[in-house]
Amino acid sequence: MSDCIFCKLASGEIPTDMVCENDLAAAFRDANPQAPVHVLIVPKAHHDNILDNVDAQTLAAMTELVGEVARREGIDKTGFRVIMNTGADAGQTVMHLHMHVLGGIEMGEGLL
Ligand code: AMP
Ligand code: ZN
Repeated sequence: MSDCIFCKLASGEIPTDMVCENDLAAAFRDANPQAPVHVLIVPKAHHDNILDNVDAQTLAAMTELVGEVARREGIDKTGFRVIMNTGADAGQTVMHLHMHVLGGIEMGEGLL
């Protein structure tokens, strides 16, 4: 989608702090981190959110990056949280499917 910021970040059209990527998905640091590690994983193809006809290959590619991000950021042993905000009640502000990977701090049992 031509005016979508995450499309431009995922494709490299706009430079970003990329953590890792594969053929179908990219992982880059959140511009306003909510934890010591806060990385976004997005598909390279545009989908508004998880309700927008997301194919299994794309989901697999995103999921693969969860583990890679965790290992690269050193939170695979300590643990982390993955969040996928969808729609207004969840506070989705960027309408391009993304997973938040949050870690590097003890989050306890709040919210989830
Ligand atoms: P959500 O509320 O789930 O839609 O989250 C959107 C996230 O995107 C927020 O955590 C923002 O800080 C982050 N964000 C917005 N613009 C950028 C950007 N240009 N680069 C990196 N992260 C961004
Ligand atoms: Zn997009």
